[in-house]
Amino acid sequence: MKPVIALVGRPNVGKSTLFNRLTGTRDAIVADFAGLTRDRHYGNGRAGSREFIVIDTGGFEPDAGEGSIYREMAKQTRQAVAESDVVIFVVDARAGLSAQDHEIANYLRRLGKPTLLVANKAEGMTQGLQLVEFFELGLGEVFPVSGAHGQGIRSMLDKALDMLPLPEDDGADGDLDEAQAPDATIRLAVAGRPNVGKSTLINVWLGEERLVAFDMPGTTRDAISVPFERNGRKFELIDTAGLRRKGRVFEAIEKFSVVKTLQAIESAHVVLLLLDATQGVTDQDAHIAGYILESGRAVVLAINKWDAVDAYQREQVERQVENRLSFLKFAPLHLISARKRQGLGPLWKSIAQAHASAMRKMSTPMLTRLLQESVAFQAPPKTGMYRPKMRYAHQGGMNPPVIVIHGNSLENVPEVYRRFLEGRFRKAFDLVGTPLRIEFKTSH
Ligand code: GDP
Ligand code: GDP
Repeated sequence: MKPVIALVGRPNVGKSTLFNRLTGTRDAIVADFAGLTRDRHYGNGRAGSREFIVIDTGGFEPDAGEGSIYREMAKQTRQAVAESDVVIFVVDARAGLSAQDHEIANYLRRLGKPTLLVANKAEGMTQGLQLVEFFELGLGEVFPVSGAHGQGIRSMLDKALDMLPLPEDDGADGDLDEAQAPDATIRLAVAGRPNVGKSTLINVWLGEERLVAFDMPGTTRDAISVPFERNGRKFELIDTAGLRRKGRVFEAIEKFSVVKTLQAIESAHVVLLLLDATQGVTDQDAHIAGYILESGRAVVLAINKWDAVDAYQREQVERQVENRLSFLKFAPLHLISARKRQGLGPLWKSIAQAHASAMRKMSTPMLTRLLQESVAFQAPPKTGMYRPKMRYAHQGGMNPPVIVIHGNSLENVPEVYRRFLEGRFRKAFDLVGTPLRIEFKTSH
């Protein structure tokens, strides 16, 4: 799972500026989860091959009055810190220490989370002298950076990532071959906003299946994972709902955790995205769907509570899925009722199919032959001076499958042509429920 870095500090020290630096413009704010997170922002970052999630705690209501600003800040800070693995505590090198800095420092020291003290706006300062006062915070060495000028960012990040506890090897990356075997375990995440019926569905499943074992979470950050079997296949259910065992059943705890949802999606092979027929497709659904797409995971869509809507509403919801989630067109869609146990059987077939598609191995000769047939059927249009020349194709990755096409003048192959090729490859390799990435490599 990607480690989580929280940016905390009082308003105006430059947290948002640093957030944008760490996430880059492309990945900034992966999901705004309207209404769920209010003033916290989540973004994806990368340093070399190391990926992480950043939480920014900026964005306070400026007119909420002094007392409530502080209250809100404390709340945002606490929540972000609770969800993180390492904290970057930002102070303002120019403004110097304030009483609020002391308060935040006290809080962080008591928690004992790995914390990196960073003095922002330090461009052009004779550092040694001016930064001495920050040692008072009792958090050790202070790291000077300039978010606005991009100075010191990389070494700050390296330092923060070095403070992480060593990751346990869960085999998540090494099991691609193993995952192809028919007896491989399919890691499944059930995602969706609160109240769509995740716990209901999971309890129905687990009530029907032999429960092999389950882990009780020690802390809120440990995900529950439940192994079970169905039709002779092994599954591992990854907790996204924030499920807790209550007596004999699982129940969603009231707080939706964005970080947990993001992490579960990324550690899954297949994500089942649940929607609620009675609510239609909301902004939150679209945000979660967007994140799933970005993660490259295989997806199956299910509209739950089908029992509770009439024919008119059914048509509405289906149209909404088509319009608002058009970017998940590759995902099979199921209409179900977890409560009435309707439509659940076919879900398994789609999940297994999506898994197999995500893990599909495609040989270079086969890909190349398909490419040549496609080009013979419909040549890529000329762009500028030259007509793109496609020579051969090979598989560049799995989960999601990546097809790399080599040739000349491939820089400007139009999107419609890419989609045409995607359609042909999907059909030939029977790829359902997984994104398919196509990359062009021009050799010179
Ligand atoms: P936040 O409230 O902590 O998220 O702070 P912002 O990122 O919104 O920044 C607050 C102000 O500080 C803005 O006017 C920024 O332009 C400015 N700022 C941010 N980083 C730097 C920096 O490295 N140097 C200087 N001089 N100003 C900065
Ligand atoms: P979660 O927050 O996503 O885990 O949602 P829950 O499983 O707690 O369900 C939220 C509410 O929707 C509960 O009142 C469920 O009884 C109800 N619900 C779940 N599935 C269905 C369904 O298929 N049909 C109907 N009508 N209600 C459902």
